[in-house]
Amino acid sequence: MTIKVKGIAKSTLDFILEVSKSSAPKEFAGLLRAEEGIIKDVIFLPGTESSRISATLRLFMMPNISIAGSVHSHPTSNTNPSRADLALFARVGGHNIIAGAPYDMRSWRCYDSNGISITLNVLDIEFDDDDSNAVLL
Ligand SMILES: [Zn+2]
Repeated sequence: MTIKVKGIAKSTLDFILEVSKSSAPKEFAGLLRAEEGIIKDVIFLPGTESSRISATLRLFMMPNISIAGSVHSHPTSNTNPSRADLALFARVGGHNIIAGAPYDMRSWRCYDSNGISITLNVLDIEFDDDDSNAVLL
C-alpha cells in the first residue's frame, strides 16, 4: 500500500489548513489521494475522529485509488500523534499530516507509518483536472 510520494500540491495543503481552521474546535479527518506521486486530493470521511479512518479504510483498498496517507487536525497547537493516531498511521500509508492551530504553513507536520516526523515537499504546481481538492463520499 506504500506509494512513492514526491510531495503535496500547495493548493491542497492550503485547502487542508483552511478546512482545519473552519472545523475547529472540532477535528477534521480525511485520506490523502495521490496522483502521479503528488498528493492532490482530500477524501473526506464521515465523522470527525481520526479513529474512524481505520474503519472506513477498507473501502479504499482498490487498485485504482492511491491513498498516500491520512490527514487530520488537532484543535490545539500540539501536532504530536496520539496513540490512536499512531495505530492509524501504521495502517494507512506513509504520509500522515497533522495540522494544528493556528493552521498556518508552520503548524503542520507529516509522519510516516511508524510515526516518525518526515519532510513532505510542498509543490507549487498547477493542476487542471478540476479545481476541487475535495472528494465527498
Ligand atoms: Zn490526532
